[in-house]
Amino acid sequence: MTTRTQTKGDADLDLGITRAPKSATETRSQQPALSGERKARVDAILKDGIDPHVHSGPSIAPRALDHLDLVRQMSDAGFAAVVTKDHDYAGVATAALIKKHHPELHTKIFSGIVLNNVVGGINPYAVEHTAAMGGKIVWMPTLAAENHLRWEKAATFAHPASTQKMRPASPVPVLDANKRVLDCVKDVLDVIAKNDMVLASGHLHVSETWLVFEEAQRRGVKRLIFTHPEDIVDATLNDVRGVAAMGAMVEHSLAFFLDGSKFKTRSAKELRQLIEAAGTDSTIICSDLGQTGVFSPLEGFRLGVALCMELGYQDEEIHKMVSTNAARVLGLDSLVSS
Ligand SMILES: [Zn+2]
Repeated sequence: MTTRTQTKGDADLDLGITRAPKSATETRSQQPALSGERKARVDAILKDGIDPHVHSGPSIAPRALDHLDLVRQMSDAGFAAVVTKDHDYAGVATAALIKKHHPELHTKIFSGIVLNNVVGGINPYAVEHTAAMGGKIVWMPTLAAENHLRWEKAATFAHPASTQKMRPASPVPVLDANKRVLDCVKDVLDVIAKNDMVLASGHLHVSETWLVFEEAQRRGVKRLIFTHPEDIVDATLNDVRGVAAMGAMVEHSLAFFLDGSKFKTRSAKELRQLIEAAGTDSTIICSDLGQTGVFSPLEGFRLGVALCMELGYQDEEIHKMVSTNAARVLGLDSLVSS
C-alpha cells in the first residue's frame, strides 16, 4: 500500500534513540498539583474518560492497585470505562465479578487477552474463550514478542512485568521465515473478526504490525489499535501516519511521557509530533499505569490532560483522545455522551 513506510532511515523523529534524560528533579513528590480552575477544566475533559490499557493487579508484577481499586477510583472521577491488561492472563472473569457485585460503580470494567506464553501464545481457543466472556481487546504478544525479547537486551529500563518467579518468556512468532503471517495468527484474526473484537499490536515490531494489520483487515477485523509506537516497537512518524491512514487508532502510553514517571523516555514535543502524525481523530491516550512507584492511572490521566493543554490542544480535541475515540474503537459509544 502507498502509505506504507518501513525504512528506518527516513524517520523524521528518531523514536529509536532519543531518550529524555532522567533528572534528579523528576520525582513524583515534586510534581506540582493542578490548581483550582485548571483542575476543574481537566476534570471536565476527563468526564466519560476511558482508559483502554491499564495494568491493575493482581499480577506477578508489582502493582499499586487492583482491578476493583481501579474501578472505584475511576468511578469517582466519572470515567466511563477501563480495559485492564495483564501480560499473563485474560481479566475477563475478574471484570465479570466486579460488574456483578458492584453495580453501584459508574465505571464499566472490561478486559482482554495478551497472547504471551502463559495463555499458549497464539491460541485461538483462549481468544474464543475471552470473546465468549465479553473480552474487548486481543493484544498480539508483548513480553514474548520476538521484538520485545530483542528490545529487552538493549533496553534502558527493565520492563516491570518481570517473570522472575516463572520460567523466562520464550518467543511467540507471528510471521514465518518468509515474512508471511502464520496460519495460527490468521485463525486468531478470524476469531477477532467474528466477535468484532479489537486487535492491538502489543509489542510486535512495527514491520510485523503492518503485515498483521493488513491481514486482519483482509479477514474482516474492523477495530485496530496500534500500541505505543513511541517505544519498544521501533516505529517512525511515517509508520504512525500510515497505520492511522489504514483506519487504526494510534494509542499513546502516558507512562512514557509524564514528568516524574519512572518510565519516561519521551518528551512532550515528541507526544505532539506523534499526535500530529495520526491526527486527533485517530489518537487515543491510555495510562499504561498501575505499577508501583509511579502515578496512579487517574493521576496519570490528569497530568496527561494538563500536558495536552500545554501542548495547545483544545478541550474538545483532548476529550476525543481520552474518551470518545476509545469509545469508538472499542464499540462503547453508548457509554459516553458525545
Ligand atoms: Zn502496557
